[in-house]
Amino acid sequence: MLVVMKPHATPEQIAGVEERIRSLGLTPHAIPGAQRVAIGITGNKGALDPAAFETMPGVADAIRVSQPFKLVSREVKEEDTVIDVDGVSLGGKAIRVMAGPCSVESKEQLLEAAHAVKQVGATFLRGGAFKPRTSPYEFQGLGEEGLKLLALAREQTGLKVVTEVMDTDQLPMVAEYADVLQIGARNMQNYSLLKRVGAVGKPVLLKRGPAATIKEWLMAAEYVVSEGNYRVALCERGIRTFETMTRNTLDLNAVPVLKALTHLPVVVDPSHGIGLRAHVPAMARAGVAAGADGLIVEVHPAPDRALSDGHQSLTPAEFAGLMTQVRVIAGAIGRPV
Ligand code: PEP
Ligand code: MN
Repeated sequence: MLVVMKPHATPEQIAGVEERIRSLGLTPHAIPGAQRVAIGITGNKGALDPAAFETMPGVADAIRVSQPFKLVSREVKEEDTVIDVDGVSLGGKAIRVMAGPCSVESKEQLLEAAHAVKQVGATFLRGGAFKPRTSPYEFQGLGEEGLKLLALAREQTGLKVVTEVMDTDQLPMVAEYADVLQIGARNMQNYSLLKRVGAVGKPVLLKRGPAATIKEWLMAAEYVVSEGNYRVALCERGIRTFETMTRNTLDLNAVPVLKALTHLPVVVDPSHGIGLRAHVPAMARAGVAAGADGLIVEVHPAPDRALSDGHQSLTPAEFAGLMTQVRVIAGAIGRPV
């Protein structure tokens, strides 16, 4: 259920509705909107009777929400969510590009990548300090040393830092350095991590699980938002299909479908999506054409020497080319990059 307040409802009227919701043993979630406040209700087992709220002072309407994901749905919040990442927006008209190495490997590697991507228009620096690797014998990341290097790169370039947090033990440390907490594909349904990340209140980039349906993914986002953190962006990074020529199958269907179902920003990861360096720019262009609000792209000063995902990482020069192409596509649909 969603209780929509009148445009000029007073703080007392809003508090009155929240109190009524609590008195029923349920949880109110005030959803800020440009014109008016709406209050989402969670915790009910069956459908609620709208009449319980419709006649309260300041209430414009009480609407049943048909989707199982409530707070992330467009039914509950019609306007797009624009995430404020410390002064940089994600989810508005402008398309944001996040770029950088798969893993933070060294000071020289990270700084070179950061300056290069900044120079051609990226606004976020990506880089993993804690890496979820398929094999325990592969490079696992530099840990806190990597986080410190990300902070140094931010200081030098002004780029916002996106980095992965793999578990709840790491969360306090990663949250200290990150501007955006990345939840990796393998962790999309780690519900204790999702709840804790929701409570921390930092912006979150929630990657899609390789075998997750769009509904499961939105339910995962609901875990974060239901803790009171609306600053969540969804990242399509490819799903597992029968195809073996590509690392994953970038599901660009998800982009318009998500934009219809949810108010949250959608980011496309063409690097993991196709997994082949030569084809990353094509899928980046396609992601923007499909309506993505952002891209996240792996860039390495020397991809052939990368400790992870070198085969899908672009050189700085290739990334510059991608940016030029992406700007043309974005311009055609009226969006700046
Ligand atoms: C990554 O961004 O380097 C990464 C590990 O991504 P994913 O969780 O999508 O596999
Ligand atoms: Mn990677």
